[in-house]
Amino acid sequence: MNDDASVRSATGDRRAELAAGLASVEGRIARACEAAGRPRDAVTLVVVTKTYPASDVRLLWELGVRHVAENRDQDAAPKAAQCTDLPLTWHFVGQLQTNKARSVAGYADFVHSVDRLRLVRSLANAAAPRDRELGCLIQVGLDAESDDAGPRGGAAPDRVAELADAVAEARGLRLDGVMTVAPLAGPYAGKPGEAFARLREISTCLRTAHPAATMVSAGMSADLEEAISAGATHVRVGSAVLGVRPRLR
Ligand SMILES: *Cc1c(COP(=O)(O)O)cnc(C)c1O
Repeated sequence: MNDDASVRSATGDRRAELAAGLASVEGRIARACEAAGRPRDAVTLVVVTKTYPASDVRLLWELGVRHVAENRDQDAAPKAAQCTDLPLTWHFVGQLQTNKARSVAGYADFVHSVDRLRLVRSLANAAAPRDRELGCLIQVGLDAESDDAGPRGGAAPDRVAELADAVAEARGLRLDGVMTVAPLAGPYAGKPGEAFARLREISTCLRTAHPAATMVSAGMSADLEEAISAGATHVRVGSAVLGVRPRLR
């Protein structure tokens, strides 16, 4: 085999792996929607490509993926730059330092991890001069103590309204909904279904003041069924599509 052929064959193997992962996740989403009596198009699959290369993003695009997510700006910024020819929607889902807001606003269409006023201000400063709005989701830390951020990011539930109002008032930002990660500790540990039901209540409450904030981002590889059953509109799935991340092996 010459080098070109071996490169082509490695790419073909990876494409087949990704196609199989996607088909399996698509099947799970379709079955969960059916079980919940929800139409399949009520749920958007966001593929979390963190730790995987831009070449995988490109293959996923060819396989029909349109929404991708990253959780670290250092990895996401160069990856997005290598894929500017693809009209993908980029979601930022990781804990975000204010000094990275400018960079993230440069490529992200949505930030799911808005969890404090300082970050709202930084994102607004970064987004205001741009010609499109940055979609923002308030990340709820269901394991966060009042007035504090949770260990995996997220604002305590009693802070959501204030943050939502701040986003809604900020030029350059658009309030789109809420997000959570199923907690590993606290009363919801090991109970993703209950956590996602609580997020759904928070979303319902938020929509009385902000009816357009309809996105509910919940559910990952391990718990997407529970999230869809609880009304998630966006599931964020990484390892079930791309494989177990190298650093976790
Ligand atoms: C990594 C990550 C995911 C995807 O997790 P998997 O278990 O690989 O599906 C979803 N959401 C956030 C915030 C993440 O950091």
